[in-house]
Amino acid sequence: MPSEPFTTAVLSREAKTQTLQQLDDGEVKGCKKCRLCETRMHTVFGEGDVDARLLFIGEGPGENEDLQGRPFVGRAGELLEKMIVAMGLSRQSVFICNIVKCRPPGNRAPMADETGACTPYLLQQIEVVRPTVIVTLGLPATQFMLQTKNSMGKMRGQWHTWRGIKLMPTYHPAYVLRDYTPKTRAAVWDDLKQVMAELGLPTVAKKS
Ligand code: URA
Ligand code: SF4
Repeated sequence: MPSEPFTTAVLSREAKTQTLQQLDDGEVKGCKKCRLCETRMHTVFGEGDVDARLLFIGEGPGENEDLQGRPFVGRAGELLEKMIVAMGLSRQSVFICNIVKCRPPGNRAPMADETGACTPYLLQQIEVVRPTVIVTLGLPATQFMLQTKNSMGKMRGQWHTWRGIKLMPTYHPAYVLRDYTPKTRAAVWDDLKQVMAELGLPTVAKKS
């Protein structure tokens, strides 16, 4: 994967919307590039503001997302939205997508060949949106973007650079729900505060 910043021009809002719509309608919705197409109900392209300065990358659709065709609409999604609101933003003002666009059966982690087949779509989404900051949620998203096998504990809370874009890994909201301790919640909030500072958002906002 190239490591240099994107060299293509940033598109207008209209062109971004049209390009992403074409990618979804023309390619993703009918995609059969990996075995996950066999068990999905709906593809989950991702959604949000095409001009978002902040882009979140999750792992893949769960049951609710597969049923609705939208990302992060279950319990993890509720927590993600709380995190976004605590940052002083709204769900509509960011962009939310996943490593794979179809639900892995039983919510298992995506396999390497599935990630390999699907992530060209993600890379196109990022190139179109061209956010200032990317937040990866959890290990699969972080390991894919940074192309490492490092642990979450090693990678979260620190800035990384991905093709010239600042990238902050943090724990996945589903993990936070499983390990709802002051320590884990404080770690996520620390990570998000660094993102807020980078985006010039006031960091006095209270913790959710
Ligand atoms: N978990 C994810 O990683 N992505 C979703 O869209 C929902 C839950
Ligand atoms: Fe295609 Fe991605 Fe779905 Fe696999 S997960 S079928 S590559 S859209």
